[in-house]
Amino acid sequence: MDQNYQKIKEILESFGIRATSQRLEMAHLILSEHQHLTAEDVFNLVNTHFPHASRATVFNNLKLFSEKGVIGTLDLKNGITHYDSNTDRHHHALNEETGEILDVYLDPETENKVHNLMKQDLESKLGKDWKDSKLLITLKGKV
Ligand SMILES: [Zn+2]
Repeated sequence: MDQNYQKIKEILESFGIRATSQRLEMAHLILSEHQHLTAEDVFNLVNTHFPHASRATVFNNLKLFSEKGVIGTLDLKNGITHYDSNTDRHHHALNEETGEILDVYLDPETENKVHNLMKQDLESKLGKDWKDSKLLITLKGKV
């Protein structure tokens, strides 16, 4: 088994997922780079390499990967879930013009500062506390 596949197999197993060959191929395609894919994108990606893959199997595996934490999810305002192959802590910037989603990293100190400022501001409006916050920045206009 190729080293990349061995690594993917270990990742799946570390999340308690049995690494069937289909899951292995699918996880390999998703995790090969940092990307934000809709379920349809994932199906198209898998289908390009494995034309006989069933839509139901791809969607079921995708659900399993996200439930177990192999991949993250990002829900945008339009109600479409994007599956995020980058599970390191990060935030997002959405380029409104192109629809591209970019990963944004903040140092822990800045992140804490932003979280606390938002908490102060929003607590009085929302009347509730929350443990964590993630930023989704919308980039407007041409750069
Ligand atoms: Zn991301």
